[in-house]
Amino acid sequence: NALLEVREIGKRYGNVVALREVSTVVKAGEVTCVLGDNGAGKSTLIKILAGVHQHDEGEFLVEGAPVRFASPREALDRGIATVYQDLAVVPLMSVWRNFFLGSEPTVGFGPFRALDRRKGRELTKKALADLGIDLRDVEQPVGTLSGGERQCVAIARAIHFGAKVLILDEPTAALGVKQAGVVLKYVAQARDRGLGVVLITHNPHHAYPVADRFLLLKRGTALGSYEKAEIELPE
Ligand code: ADP
Ligand code: ADP
Repeated sequence: NALLEVREIGKRYGNVVALREVSTVVKAGEVTCVLGDNGAGKSTLIKILAGVHQHDEGEFLVEGAPVRFASPREALDRGIATVYQDLAVVPLMSVWRNFFLGSEPTVGFGPFRALDRRKGRELTKKALADLGIDLRDVEQPVGTLSGGERQCVAIARAIHFGAKVLILDEPTAALGVKQAGVVLKYVAQARDRGLGVVLITHNPHHAYPVADRFLLLKRGTALGSYEKAEIELPE
């Protein structure tokens, strides 16, 4: 019942070994937390899962079948949504237009023509309200939102468009404790709705309350993949 699984995957950039024999699973309704310092291979792992890069060794399975994505679009079409740290949203564009960017209603009609403003605003507000996200003005540019609000909108977007897997790259890195808590609340909601979540972080304390499984990476090598019950964080 794993949504995603990697089995002893390896990845090189020229002579640099970025990942070596790394294995883990991502299950529906669970959060897999990927921990490691700079250079550990966290970004490389999510880039493979998200179709940006391909693995050189091992196996990558989606719902039990081996895959090799040729592009991020292919990963997205399989229900794998990735929220990058810098967020792939256009800062000057309104919240609701960002919400629909790249989604079905706009395909084939030029960027925005297919969805009218009133409907776009309503759908966006509803999708946010469904998660309990209180954002009064969806006409404001995304750039005016706080970092935490942007993460919340991106999470709501993935849920709204039916993602099966949500990959979050350091969602709390730039946030204070309070904002990080709010973002993690929505991560927990995604999990409770049955999504499999991959949470990349170098701060285990932020992630611990929502995590079900930990993958510890150090210089490209997995130090281990643990269920939460096997791990205890030092104070
Ligand atoms: P992390 O996200 O944990 O900081 P990365 O996956 O970015 O780790 O990097 C893992 C290793 O691979 C590092 O040694 C990094 O310098 C190297 N690396 C990452 N991307 C590239 C690239 N495009 N070309 C060459 N080396 C890379
Ligand atoms: P992150 O903190 O998200 O891992 P980095 O600053 O490590 O970002 O890397 C930014 C970009 O540069 C990434 O796309 C990564 O793959 C690439 N990169 C990282 N290390 C190297 C490297 N040694 N040589 C070439 N590209 C690299």
